[in-house]
Formats: sequence, C-alpha cells, structure tokens
Amino acid sequence: YKAELKTLVDAESVSTDGHKALLVANIGSPEDLEAVKANGAEGVGLFRTEFLYMESDTLPTEDEQFEVYKKVLEGVNGPVVVRTLDIGGDKKLKSFETPDEMNPFLGVRAIRLCFQHEDIFRTQLRALLRASVYGDLHIMFPMIATLGEFRKAKGILMEEKAKLEAEGVKVSDNFEVGIMIEIPAAAVLADQFAKEVDFFSIGTNDLIQYTFAADRMSSTINYLYQPFNPSILRLVKNTIDAAHANGKWTGMCGEMAGEALAAPLLLGLGLDEFSMSATSILAQRKRIRSLSYEESKKLAEDCLNNAMTMEEVVAKVTEETG
Ligand code: PEP
Ligand code: MG
Repeated sequence: YKAELKTLVDAESVSTDGHKALLVANIGSPEDLEAVKANGAEGVGLFRTEFLYMESDTLPTEDEQFEVYKKVLEGVNGPVVVRTLDIGGDKKLKSFETPDEMNPFLGVRAIRLCFQHEDIFRTQLRALLRASVYGDLHIMFPMIATLGEFRKAKGILMEEKAKLEAEGVKVSDNFEVGIMIEIPAAAVLADQFAKEVDFFSIGTNDLIQYTFAADRMSSTINYLYQPFNPSILRLVKNTIDAAHANGKWTGMCGEMAGEALAAPLLLGLGLDEFSMSATSILAQRKRIRSLSYEESKKLAEDCLNNAMTMEEVVAKVTEETG
C-alpha cells in the first residue's frame, strides 16, 4: 500500500471526471519541508508560526523571522500560506505574559492579542513583507470575527508595506491576503468578506468548537466534535460559494481536510485546496482520484438538505463511497 502511494508523489489530485483540487501541507517549522517534498504536497496551506515564539525566552526579532520565512518560501514549489501569530487560548509564551481568563478560547487570542500588542504584530508583518519576494506568499489572519478586524489587520499590513518601500526595501506586489474561517460569525458573513479578502481557509478545529460551543480539549463532551454535522457542512458550503461568487478561492486547514470520509463531501462542495499534515497527503490524493466530482456534488447536496444526524451523514457517505 505504501509503495502504491509513493507512485502518487508527482500525480495530480484530480477526480475521475477531471475536477482538480490542490493538496497542500500544514507545517510548523522549516524542518517540516523535507516531508512536504517527500509526500508530494503542492504547496503549504498553513504555516503555523507559533514555534518561533514558543521556543525561546525572548520574542523573535524581525531578522530572525525574516530568515525563517525566506527559507520556507524558497523551499516550497507552490503557494505558501503563512498564518500570523495565533497565541493565547491553550498556547502560552515564556517571553510574554498572556492574561489569565475564565474562558481563554473565548478571550484574548490570535488577532485579538496582536491588536493589543501591535508592536509584536508589526514586527511579524515586516518580516513577512521582506520575505515576500522569495516565493508565492499568502498572508493569513487567524480568528477573524468581523469585517472591521480584517480591515484593521490589512490596514496595518499595508502601512508596514508603505514604510518598507519608503525605506527602499523591495516588497512583492503579488502576495495574497486572506483569513481563517474558524468563527461562525465570519462563516455566516462570508459573502461580505469575500468582496475584500483574497482567499479563505476554513479552520474546522476551531469552527466546530465554536459552532457547537464545546471545548475542543474536553474529552467528556467530545461527541460534540461533529465535522459531519450538516450545520458544519452548511457553513463550509456558504464559505466556498461566497468565495467563488467573487472569484476567490477557499481552502481548509483543519483536521477535517485530511479525513478520507470528508473527501467526497468537500470535493462535492467545491473546496479548492485541502491542507493537512504532510503524511496524510498521498492517501487523500488516492482517495480523491477514486471519486467522481459529479456524484460527490449530489452526495453533498443530499447531506445538506435532509434532516440528518452526523451519524446518518457518516453512514450515507460510507455506503456510497466506501
Ligand atoms: C483550526 O482551527 O482548524 C486550525 C487549523 O487552527 P489551529 O488548529 O492551529 O487552531
Ligand atoms: Mg484555529
């Protein structure tokens, strides 16, 4: 089976009836680049930058970050989606005091923390902008809930771009700016966001936690982790349709993107990019190459439009696609 998968390293991720998707990798540091290549990833769909901040007692400097981003951009043949700092929630830093809150996952996390400590945010953005000339950079903001937050984050980014250019530093004009869809408020208003962002990436790990109001770390209520619940499928569909209506694209970088059972639903809903741990890519590519896009579309519609529990959706998808 492993040998068979290896033959797919250079293959396209294409359905039996010719519908293509992009299969890309989630990475956490430049050390993951080897696995990205070995497993035939067509790019990087999520570079979690937290490691830069979590490994040391001091905050990473602009130059230190620049070197890392440059290395990743140069080392990947394809698009690279870099997510800005997503600290807070369960993730703490040694170099930095994060507030003690009753509900950390509902508190000062990710973009919210970056707005409260704009200097940290600006340093990261400058490093990214300087690295933008070395590859196909996509900058992605995490935990966006409102259009105002996106505009503010993009405004700060563009201010730093203008400053760098005034300093004579070359910055690419071709990088894309997008957001994670991981808060229901953003998924619901995807049609409005789609007019202003370049792309979406759906973070199902958080989107599921926030949709069902169930802590993703809790083991006693993990039955509420329901990627196949029609409520999630509808939010996914709403996001993809809104993007496509505005000539934009949608990826998914939560665990769901790498699940075999999710492949026909996500393909059928028109997901453009599937981002997962590198070691899942070849199996998911094999799976997509076995599916019909037209049949997957019908299957997804059926699961969205009928009163079904998650278990019933899972049973139906299993029955129809094996
Ligand atoms: C997600 O929420 O699905 C996601 C990819 O981000 P993280 O798991 O890093 O919160
Ligand atoms: Mg998340």
